[in-house]
Amino acid sequence: MTVPRILIVGGGFAGMETARKLERILKPDEAALKLVTPYDHQLYLPLLPHVASGILTPQSVAVSLRRLLRRTVIVPGGAVGVDPAAKAVVVRKINGETTVQHYDYLVLTPGSVTRQFNIPGVDEHAVGMKTLAEAAWVRDHVISQLDLSAASSDRAEQETRLQFVVVGGGYAGTETAAYLHQLTSAAVKRYPGLDPDLVKWHLVDIAPRLMPELGERLGAKALDILKRRGVNVSLGVSVAEAAADTVTLTDGRKLPCHTLIWTAGVAASPLIATLDAETNRGRLVVRPDLTVPGLDGVFALGDAAAVPDLAKGDDAICPPTAQHAMRQGWAAAKNVAAALHGAPLTAYHHRDLGLVVDLGGIQAVSKPVGIELTGLPAQVVARGYHLGALRTVPARLRTLTNWTLNAVAGYDFVRTGFQAGRPATLKDFERTDAYLSPDLIASHTGAEARGRTD
Ligand SMILES: Cc1cc2nc3c(=O)[nH]c(=O)nc-3n(C[C@H](O)[C@H](O)[C@H](O)COP(=O)(O)OP(=O)(O)OC[C@H]3O[C@@H](n4cnc5c(N)ncnc54)[C@H](O)[C@@H]3O)c2cc1C
Repeated sequence: MTVPRILIVGGGFAGMETARKLERILKPDEAALKLVTPYDHQLYLPLLPHVASGILTPQSVAVSLRRLLRRTVIVPGGAVGVDPAAKAVVVRKINGETTVQHYDYLVLTPGSVTRQFNIPGVDEHAVGMKTLAEAAWVRDHVISQLDLSAASSDRAEQETRLQFVVVGGGYAGTETAAYLHQLTSAAVKRYPGLDPDLVKWHLVDIAPRLMPELGERLGAKALDILKRRGVNVSLGVSVAEAAADTVTLTDGRKLPCHTLIWTAGVAASPLIATLDAETNRGRLVVRPDLTVPGLDGVFALGDAAAVPDLAKGDDAICPPTAQHAMRQGWAAAKNVAAALHGAPLTAYHHRDLGLVVDLGGIQAVSKPVGIELTGLPAQVVARGYHLGALRTVPARLRTLTNWTLNAVAGYDFVRTGFQAGRPATLKDFERTDAYLSPDLIASHTGAEARGRTD
């Protein structure tokens, strides 16, 4: 007798929590669990700026899925198309082979990719802060700009190499600019030939405030901290064009630089577009119980789905945050199990617990359960939250040890060189062009139906 097949696509916050919870709720003989994921770890994205600045080693934020999950079969690869009619997902495995995975229940959690807005040059010259490779690449790249400046006697080249632009005044961009500015400020002191005044960081956002979700007072506090440190913050401004050695802003300024870090929002994974289902601003429309209307047995959640935010009401949808993705994972697991048992499904409901923003050192701003905190108390809450949300003891210990080392010994200025030969464009890092057209998906699932199995 065959057991129902539950297929989870994506091993991030939402997918990992769904799998973990399903392993707890369902008995081993009740369902076969499979997880399609390009990497064997859950990436703890909120700490990527710490990796980019070298405070945390990349491994600290890569939480092992094989340690966390005991009976979920991991399929190493990426889903490149979904055929709901055939109840099948086309998967490109990491060795390049294509296979078809059938499901009775499908949980879609492929997350999001960096949003680019079709600005000329951004695709070729910007790098995001969404993957571990990007964070590690940025660290090596920033330190290599200091090394290359030190190697040059041309002041114009030094100025260009020591100017850095971060686009996006949300928590990702603000933390990235804050941490990397601290890194270069500390590092430049160890380069006797370099003029520290040449090091310039720019944080650019089209919005009039930093992190509007934090409220006016905390947003202004974060802005004040960055300005006092020497970060040039430009609000109400965006990028008009990017080139290899210049970023042109919409106010006409041309910033000579070789570093453009793009964190101006996210868009749902391109996998969602292969479904031919209703979307809301690119995210898959789901009911409050996380099921996808019109698609039998399909659930979607996390950044890829437009989950109704019942705590806010009206037509609000949940913001793309780890806080929601994790909790939606728990709700999805309960509802998949309920569907399997023929029980009623329940609606996802979560009141936002607030935001923590770590600006480095003892400076932070956070708003847990509506209480506005700054300075050391905010930092304790921020780091305590992250330690609690990291799901394995080794990941917590690695992170805590790295933070302690940084607090005691300061920054280390090493570039490992491992990333030197890697591509540095958004498309290459986030593989946004890997997905199949409906015709190709049908040709794969049709071929499979005619005999091939996996
Ligand atoms: C720098 C940064 C800082 C952040 N800070 C915070 C914060 O402080 N607080 C907060 O709440 N949120 C924060 N976020 C947002 C948060 O990380 C996301 O909302 C959260 O990761 C969404 O969870 P998810 O499971 O939907 O997607 P993810 O966690 O991104 O997981 C998606 C998974 O799917 C995999 N995948 C992608 N495509 C495919 C495919 N085709 N097939 C199979 N697998 C696929 C990916 O490899 C990944 O493992 C931050 C994000 C960034 C980038």
